[in-house]
Amino acid sequence: MSYGNQQDSNNDPQSAPRQRRAGAGGILGGLLGGAGRSIKMRLFIGLAVALFGVVSYYSSAEKNPVTGEVQRIAMSAEQEMALGLQAAPELLQEMGGGLDPKRDPRAKLVTAIGEKLAYHTEAAKSPYAQKRNFHFFLINDTKTINAFALPGGQIFITRALFDKLQNEAQLAGVLGHEVGHVIHRHGAQQMAKQKFGQALVSAVGVGAGEQSAVQIAQMVNQFKQLSYGRDDELESDDYGMRLMIEVGYDPSEMIGVMEILKAATGGAGRQQEWAQTHPAPESRIEAIKVFLKKNADVIRTKSLVKDSSGGLMK
Ligand SMILES: [Zn+2]
Repeated sequence: MSYGNQQDSNNDPQSAPRQRRAGAGGILGGLLGGAGRSIKMRLFIGLAVALFGVVSYYSSAEKNPVTGEVQRIAMSAEQEMALGLQAAPELLQEMGGGLDPKRDPRAKLVTAIGEKLAYHTEAAKSPYAQKRNFHFFLINDTKTINAFALPGGQIFITRALFDKLQNEAQLAGVLGHEVGHVIHRHGAQQMAKQKFGQALVSAVGVGAGEQSAVQIAQMVNQFKQLSYGRDDELESDDYGMRLMIEVGYDPSEMIGVMEILKAATGGAGRQQEWAQTHPAPESRIEAIKVFLKKNADVIRTKSLVKDSSGGLMK
């Protein structure tokens, strides 16, 4: 997907009010979201699709080509990529549109650091990187603090979160975490668990050319219903910090990211909504400290920085 394809949503001043925050949990809560508030219609669609998905779940166990772990995944890497690519434009539009990296230096930085993490680290061995399928988007939403990933490599961060970050290392931490979700195939795994992955692949007829707007909308809603578990979040934190070290950023800045999330989720209602499926920032900070201790030797021998291109974050 190129930014050229998103010109309409990028430049459409009407697109922002159309965003639907209510559904911004689940996979959209890559960093801090929770279970999306279900709308009945979505449930019906979900149930219908789920019926078709049951069969395939039990017949699919696959070895992750990058991490080596055996996972139940209802779809191939190619199908993950196709689904993500098809869903991304509508998601972008619903969330306020993507900022063009050719015109916006902040979006350019998101792309540059994201691509460094995806293509110049161990993540480059993944089928998603080999197909150059990682794309990093800065969403023009200054109110919702969030970052998330779709299966196959489409990764998003909102302006609201970007603006709170203090340096490039923190941005790398956020994006690296999302790359972790993609590489570990958490989205596809959740879809398999929730038994709608394969049905989704059939429903939108991946590889069969143009899809109807209704089918795409259904798929986007399915993605919104997904949520990751605590283990997936901690695994992605860990993976993201490894990528940070690989490209030269100080992984201890990930603690700063958690502090930002903690401050952002201080309100009791918000807290309750996502706390069930996502570890509290405090427990993630504890895990981050364990990582830093465990990798202290490697960290000490490298000259790791908070910023490399100077001044762009502030
Ligand atoms: Zn996450």
